[in-house]
Amino acid sequence: GAAAPAPPETRGGDREGQVTPRSADFNAWYTDVIAAAELADYGPVRGTMVIRPYGYAIWEAIQDYLNVKFKETGHSNMYFPQFIPYSFIEKEASHVEGFSPELALVTIGGGKELEEKLVVRPTSETIVNHMFTKWIQSYRDLPLMINQWANVTRWEMRTKPFIRTLEFLWQEGHTAHATFEEAEKEAMQMIDVYTKFAYEQAAIPVIPGRKSRVETFAGANRTYTIEAMMGDRKALQAGTSHNLGQNFSRAFGTQFMDENGQIEHVWQTSWAISTRFVGGIIMTHGDDSGLMLPPRIAPIQVVIVPIWKKGDEKSAVMEAVASVQSTLKEAGIRVKVDDSELRTPGWKFNFYEMKGVPIRIEIGPRDVTNKSVVVSRRDVPGKQGKEFGVSMETSILVDHIKGRLEEIQESLLQKAIAFRDCNIVDVSSYGELKEAIAEGKWARGPWSASDADELKVKEETSATIRCFPFEQPEGDKKCFMTGNPAEEVAIFAKSY
Ligand code: AMP
Repeated sequence: GAAAPAPPETRGGDREGQVTPRSADFNAWYTDVIAAAELADYGPVRGTMVIRPYGYAIWEAIQDYLNVKFKETGHSNMYFPQFIPYSFIEKEASHVEGFSPELALVTIGGGKELEEKLVVRPTSETIVNHMFTKWIQSYRDLPLMINQWANVTRWEMRTKPFIRTLEFLWQEGHTAHATFEEAEKEAMQMIDVYTKFAYEQAAIPVIPGRKSRVETFAGANRTYTIEAMMGDRKALQAGTSHNLGQNFSRAFGTQFMDENGQIEHVWQTSWAISTRFVGGIIMTHGDDSGLMLPPRIAPIQVVIVPIWKKGDEKSAVMEAVASVQSTLKEAGIRVKVDDSELRTPGWKFNFYEMKGVPIRIEIGPRDVTNKSVVVSRRDVPGKQGKEFGVSMETSILVDHIKGRLEEIQESLLQKAIAFRDCNIVDVSSYGELKEAIAEGKWARGPWSASDADELKVKEETSATIRCFPFEQPEGDKKCFMTGNPAEEVAIFAKSY
């Protein structure tokens, strides 16, 4: 039943709130969802985006969780300037080589040509090292473990909202240690924090592993990554952690005196997760109807839609709605009431489904009489996901909703795991790899071939080594490309 007839003039056009089915066109679906769910909009400069409140709230959920974990693991937040002298970038050879095509430069300030051009930070290793060199003298100053939440700019040629933008938001951790082992332990610890976050909060079953030499960060000795399979089976590099060795400390002279009075260069790490992760959440869980958010990071966990026809039903329904709302809110559940009379309940059902809200509660006159509500799950379509007569009694309702949120969280993860696992093929020849990649799948096989061979695979199949997964099969392995002994399997896939 309708709360009130919809006014003739509604915001947006005919297609407002409509999305191309995911199964029809994945890319069109992705951009439609971002627009319809009001996650983001395009900025006026190519490749830039405006993150809207609903999209930003997802980013905040990511921040809230990680910020706590970073502090628990001994890091402090701080802030470095966005402008970096150009000469800093040039100090580390592979770093400048990797980043120079993507740099945005400031050459004029206050109407005058600058003496030295400035780089708009693409990442902060150089300026961090410049400062660390001042702050670190002795082993007592180590480890130095900091993080910053900031924007970064990389002049990307191919862009996609959230996934790859010219300017994006991220956190970047930077640490300095007295030994290689400590730095290695830190780099591993942080990829582990990211992995847990992905599984437990975002319900994304990422595969953690080590990047190949070709794919290692410009300036790092080793790059660890978490790789996620999107709904179109393309891979997304969802976070990285680098063991920088002494590359930057040598370039910047970041030295300390050890316990024996010896002067040494510090050992360093850096690690980052960006607003790209929001795109990963959209592309992992969404379906034909739109977004589907894991409860732990959903800005709205429960939406309540009041239903009444006659004016005299309204006050009783609204009273019950207010009471259920405060009950759930007090229990720490993120709840929203949509009592707009400009939209029909049916319209609201579709809208919040498209917005990916995990649970919908309907309350109508009959529910008021029965002291119960109707509960629907976003992840189980139609009647199957709908429960009638759920008691309004505080403790029963709170337990019920909390239980359902947990079930949805777990069910999204299990669904994503099943999807991932049935789309990874074990290969033992290059032919088998080509076949798997042509089918849109990921290929996993023993690899000990050259960088040149890796680039050949990329040229011929568009697939790259996503990682050498930490989890490795037992037994002897033979490189599928060369037939030589191989120590590890690598995962190949097309990626964003
Ligand atoms: P990197 O410093 O290149 O290791 O990047 C750190 C993380 O930032 C990557 O793992 C990506 O998740 C993310 N990232 C890199 N480039 C972009 C971009 N252009 N837009 C959004 N996120 C990005």
